[in-house]
Amino acid sequence: MSDNVYGMKCNSCGTVSYPKHAVCPNCRNETFIDVVIGGEGKVLTFTDVYALAIEYETRYLRLAIVELDDGIRVTGQLLDGEPKLGMRVKTVLGTVRQSGETAIQGLQFVSA
Ligand SMILES: [Zn+2]
Repeated sequence: MSDNVYGMKCNSCGTVSYPKHAVCPNCRNETFIDVVIGGEGKVLTFTDVYALAIEYETRYLRLAIVELDDGIRVTGQLLDGEPKLGMRVKTVLGTVRQSGETAIQGLQFVSA
């Protein structure tokens, strides 16, 4: 298994997206290359989501939008218990939920 989280970079306009979409949110192009998402950034906003699918074992999921230092905005799970807007975080790859016996890996953020 790869230790990297991959986003997609639009072949047409260069916009990087994570999570992946079927079409580019900027120009609606449909071809992409994988790019590694990682490094550090700052929290732009976060929210606790309580209406989760049944396979989630946690009571809620704290999601954050983080602007990475290379300018890419990504959505992932924020693991910090006392988050603040603008706080510095780093990206990690972790288990965001279980699907049967399979651990679904995704982007997570921890305090930098
Ligand atoms: Zn595009």
